[in-house]
Amino acid sequence: MAMIGRGRVSGVGMTSDRTRLRMVERLRAGGIADEVVLAALGAVPRHLFIEGALASRAYDDVALPIGFAQTISHPMTVARVAELARAGGQIGRVLEIGAGSGYQAAVLSHLAREVYALERIAELAARARQLLVRELRMRNVRLRHADGLVGLPEAAPFDVIVISAALPHIPDELLGQLAPGGRLVLPKGAAEQRLCLIERVGSRFRETEHDPVRFVPALIGKV
Ligand code: SAH
Repeated sequence: MAMIGRGRVSGVGMTSDRTRLRMVERLRAGGIADEVVLAALGAVPRHLFIEGALASRAYDDVALPIGFAQTISHPMTVARVAELARAGGQIGRVLEIGAGSGYQAAVLSHLAREVYALERIAELAARARQLLVRELRMRNVRLRHADGLVGLPEAAPFDVIVISAALPHIPDELLGQLAPGGRLVLPKGAAEQRLCLIERVGSRFRETEHDPVRFVPALIGKV
């Protein structure tokens, strides 16, 4: 939850609150039906995750650059990922791979008991940690500078795993870190991608395909 009154966070004004509510209305009109997800997107000050000149476009329905050739996802995509991940229930422990600006992790922090977010680019990880943990004081979020493709065995199993960068195949290590009944959401593919949901049912995995999306590719190793 945002604590108002410190540094950049104190710049959160009525204007951005109203613009954010309009964004939520567009998400609802666009088919997002889970009111808990809509409330989470309504609660996270998206403009703080976007640098300087582009912050005025924070509530437009677009993906925006966050530096290092990476992007913060389109609000509709963030909402769809959250909806698929949540399936109408409270999430226990979630792992996000590809934290980027930290925005999807911030939305997940409203939907889950504990959020672990991994980012391979050191400076993005540091910035996201500064904003989420220090400025917005999201006490249930932990941000690590790490290669997420091996998951986070020491905190596994996860009820939900969200992969925020495109992969043609799902690494076995990640499937192995999914709790029974758990759900993994990822953009699957390369040039053409779709959101894919993998549900663990006992020792089996059931896969369904959803919306077409466009994510940057997942890369190996941290930098
Ligand atoms: N969820 C982010 C947007 C993701 S952009 C947001 O809300 O802003 C994809 C991110 O995945 C990039 O920041 C990229 O550096 C990161 N990434 C790609 N491969 C990765 C890997 N193997 N481990 C961790 N992060 C990775």
